[in-house]
Amino acid sequence: MTTVPTFQNYIDGEWSASLTGATFDNVNPADTRDVVGRFQASGEADALAAVRAAAAAFGAWKRLAPGARAKILLDAAAYLERHAARFGEELTREEGKQKALAKDEFMRAAQTLRFYAVEAQSFGGETFPGDDAGMDVYTLREPLGVVTVISPWNFPVSIPARKIAPALVCGNTVVFKPASDAPLSGLRLTEAFVEAGIPKGVLNFVTGSASAVGPVLVGAREVRAISFTGSTAAGEQIHRAASLSTRTQMELGGKNPLIVLDASDIERAVDLTIKGGFSLAGQACTGTSRVLVTRGIRAAFVERLAAKTAALVVGSGMQAGVDVGPLATAGQLRTVLDYIETGKREATLVCGGERIMQGDCAHGYFVMPTIFAGVPRDARIAREEIFGPVIAVIDVDGYDDAIAVANDSEYGLAAALVTQDARLMHRFASDIEAGTVKINRTTTGNLVNAPFGGLKRSSTATFRESGRDGLDFYLQTKTVYRGV
Ligand code: NAP
Repeated sequence: MTTVPTFQNYIDGEWSASLTGATFDNVNPADTRDVVGRFQASGEADALAAVRAAAAAFGAWKRLAPGARAKILLDAAAYLERHAARFGEELTREEGKQKALAKDEFMRAAQTLRFYAVEAQSFGGETFPGDDAGMDVYTLREPLGVVTVISPWNFPVSIPARKIAPALVCGNTVVFKPASDAPLSGLRLTEAFVEAGIPKGVLNFVTGSASAVGPVLVGAREVRAISFTGSTAAGEQIHRAASLSTRTQMELGGKNPLIVLDASDIERAVDLTIKGGFSLAGQACTGTSRVLVTRGIRAAFVERLAAKTAALVVGSGMQAGVDVGPLATAGQLRTVLDYIETGKREATLVCGGERIMQGDCAHGYFVMPTIFAGVPRDARIAREEIFGPVIAVIDVDGYDDAIAVANDSEYGLAAALVTQDARLMHRFASDIEAGTVKINRTTTGNLVNAPFGGLKRSSTATFRESGRDGLDFYLQTKTVYRGV
């Protein structure tokens, strides 16, 4: 029998056990008999110690030369790259996505660190002309102080990397709480910074349930900013709980449409639907969950989609040739199966619609890729985020009707259109209410060097993540009037 490793918090420069003395298990969703590791079930006192360590470290870290901060990011990136294959396998074991995708996620996290190491060396203020010849007026852009980073399980290393890298390189200190369902990848990210020589207190890592550590990480008076990615319900709660002087950046849920018109290339539309809807078992915030198809091609589209979906291989992300892995958590499995039962009452089940309990899938959270057609516009499966391998095909009458249906949603994260009509491409980019607009590409996927974020209830209407814009959240502006 293999022994289960126990992992610790990282607070004030030390790997340490929680003061509660309790731990929780991180389980493999492809085989729940496999416990990936035990993590600290931290409480309020641990969270407070982490916040205070970050506050104490802020002054010296802020004064460190930007080049020295950037060097730590570059060394941490190199560490992640060196260990990407092993860390990727761990990510697959704790979250379920395919091994190649998991390794890519570590490489992408490293790329993010490298991007911010360079980008942050050129942020600056402005100078302003004035009537007083003896006075200079300019702005200083400075770090905020202690930043809380709270991340979800679906991208357990790339999402925290795109928050922690800009936070640190701008001179903030960080308390990082990973999702309890995939904490090991976040621990590896923390370890990369530790190996790179980050000074004590500058980055702190605390595992534990949202209810136990959340109130301190959100409400402690030292916390100047909270960058959160997760569900809209949790994001809204955190945003409301934060004080007036605490900045928030919330990246939340989605119900992302792909629009297919009579003139669209059906094969291409089917491939984009499958890739956008079923990769990561539908657990991407930008995953395709609604396909809006004009009536003229609906039957042909659904037939091809069903045939290709039925050929997908479901299984453990550790196995070669697998297209769709497990759902990441027991809760997610329950939610998705509930929505499938709802869908059976609301629309026509075309394929899938069941949990897989046979063979290698017997001990995991596997669900067949599922398609519903003839989905009414007001159906729950047409409107609510499911976050699983379930696609709702909705009939529309043409481009204008498709836009009206696409925009009739509380969410506005990502949207795509399949077309070769250049005029429609431009119209779509302007008509659609989504922060990420794709044309002839999947709703999923975004670049490290471009801004990312949602509209409406997919995001707080504050700051973008990623790219150069991603720095703005972590900097505040002072205006200086210097007379001689
Ligand atoms: P979640 O349940 O909201 O949890 C996300 C993180 O927040 C976890 O670390 C969780 O801790 C913590 N948390 C939850 N409530 C909290 C509170 N009141 N105070 C402090 N921390 C709290 O979301 P999830 O199930 O992990 O992720 C799936 C959701 O994330 C989907 O809705 C998806 O669309 C969204 N998502 C959005 C984006 C984007 O960029 N827009 C990207 C990826 C995912 P515990 O794990 O301990 O509960």
